[in-house]
Amino acid sequence: MINAGVLTVSYIIATILFILALGGLSNQETARRGNWYGIIGMTIALVATVLGVVTQHYALLLGALVIGAAIGLLAARKVQMTQMPELVAILHSLVGIAAVTVGFANFMGSSGHLEGVEKTIHDIETYLGVLIGAVTFSGSVIAFGKLSGRIGGKPLTLPARHWFNLALLLAAIWFGYEFVQQSAAGDGLVPLMIMTGIALLFGIHMVMAIGGADMPVVVSMLNSYSGWAAAATGFMLGNDLLIVTGALVGSSGAILSYIMCRAMNRKFLAVIAGGFGTGGGTATAASDEDQGEIVEIGAEETAGLLETAKEVMIIPGYGMAVAQAQHVVNEITKKLRDKGVNVRFGIHPVAGRMPGHMNVLLAEANVPYDIVYEMDEINADFPDVDVSVVIGANDIVNPSALTDPDGPIGGMPVLECWKGKTTIVLKRSMATGYAGVQNPLFFLDNTRMLFGDAKDTLEAVFKEL
Ligand code: NDP
Repeated sequence: MINAGVLTVSYIIATILFILALGGLSNQETARRGNWYGIIGMTIALVATVLGVVTQHYALLLGALVIGAAIGLLAARKVQMTQMPELVAILHSLVGIAAVTVGFANFMGSSGHLEGVEKTIHDIETYLGVLIGAVTFSGSVIAFGKLSGRIGGKPLTLPARHWFNLALLLAAIWFGYEFVQQSAAGDGLVPLMIMTGIALLFGIHMVMAIGGADMPVVVSMLNSYSGWAAAATGFMLGNDLLIVTGALVGSSGAILSYIMCRAMNRKFLAVIAGGFGTGGGTATAASDEDQGEIVEIGAEETAGLLETAKEVMIIPGYGMAVAQAQHVVNEITKKLRDKGVNVRFGIHPVAGRMPGHMNVLLAEANVPYDIVYEMDEINADFPDVDVSVVIGANDIVNPSALTDPDGPIGGMPVLECWKGKTTIVLKRSMATGYAGVQNPLFFLDNTRMLFGDAKDTLEAVFKEL
C-alpha cells in the first residue's frame, strides 16, 4: 500500500503525462513520443490506483486485469489496420458499459452513508453517469456495426424522429427526478433501470439516423462521450484522476468533432439530429446514370507521366489502407524525388475510416512529414500540379460535393484535383465510395483510370520507374 500523499503525486504525474500525450499526438513528428507518455501515464495511474485505492479482493482484481490485458493484447495483434476504426468504436462501447455497471454497483452498494444534499448530488452524478454510459454503449455498438459493414450506412429516418428524441429526453429528465426522490427514501432502482433502457434506445436511434458520409463526426463524438462517461464514473467513485482523464478525452473528442464538422461543412447539431447521407457503408455498384466514357491507363504510361512531371500530388484514401500500399507509395516517392520531381501529399480530414488514418499509414511507411499537407494548405495549388495520383480515394475527390448541394456529401470541401493537368485514379472497379455516390471525376477528360489493387498496381509502376 502507498499513502495518500504518494497517491496524489502519482495522479498529478499521470495527469501531466496524459496532457503531454495529447500534445504529442497532435503532430506526426511527436506522435510516437506522445504514445509513450500515454503508456507511462496509464501504467503509473493503474499501479497507483491498485496500491493506493484498492483495499481488498486483490485476487479478483488480478484475475480481471489478466483477462482484460489478454483480450486487449490478442485483439490488438489480430486486428487488421483496416479494422482499426471498428476496434476503436467497440472500445468506446466498453467505456460506456463500464460507466453503467459502476453506476449500478455504486448505487446499490456503497452510497448508504451519504445524507441530504450530498446524497442528492451523488445520486445526480450516478444518474448522469449511467445515462451517458448507456448512450455511449449502444451508440458505439451501432457505430461498430456501421463501420464494419454489418449494418447499412443508410440513415434511419423515422417519421417524427425529432419528436421521438424529444420524448426520450423528457422521459429521461422525469425519471431522473423520480430517481432522486425515491433514492432519498432508500429506493430508486426502477427509475434508474427504466432510464437505462431509454438511454440505450436513444444511443441506437441517434447513430442509426446518421448517414454513411457523416460517420467521421459520429466516431469523434462517441470518442468524446466515452470521455465524459469516464469522467462521470470518476465523480461516482470520487476518483480525481478518472475525472481529469475523462474530461481530457471528452474535451479533445469534442474538439475533434468540431474539426470533423468543419471539414465536412456540417453543423454539429444537424449531424446529431441525423438524416444526412444515403446509402454507403460498403462499396456498391455504380449508378446506372450515363456519365460518359472513362479512359484507362496502364502502369508504363503512368510511370512515364510521373517521371516527366514537375509537380506530383498524391491523394491517399481508404483503398490505400485496404491495399496496404503505403510502403510502395513511399518507394515511388523516393524515386521521383531523386529524379527531381516535387512530390507532395494532400490529406483530406475525413480520408479513410478514422481521424488521422492516412497520417498514421504514411508515418508507418516513413514518408517525410514535411511533404504531407492538409487539404486547406494545398487545395489552391492544384492548377500548378502536373499529375495527381488518387490512391483508393473516392468521396474526398468527388466534385459533386460542390455541384450537388443536396447529395449525401453535398457541401463537403474536397480535394480539387481535377483542376490539375492530369489525374490518375487507382481503384479496382467503378464502385462508389463510402457515401454511396457516383464520382463524376472518373469521367472527366483529364482523368485516367488505373484499375487493380492499389499495391499491385503501384508495384508495377515502381518497376517501370
Ligand atoms: P471512399 O470509401 O470514399 O473510397 C475508397 C475507394 O477505395 C473505393 O471507391 C474503392 O473502390 C477503393 N478501394 C478499396 N480497396 C482498394 C484496393 N485494394 N485497391 C485500390 N482501391 C481500393 O474513401 P475516401 O478515403 O475517399 O473517403 C472516406 C469516406 O469514409 C468518406 O465518405 C468519409 O465520410 C467516410 N468515413 C470516414 C471516417 C473518418 O473518420 N475518416 C469514419 C467513417 C466514415 P473499388 O472498390 O473500386 O476498389
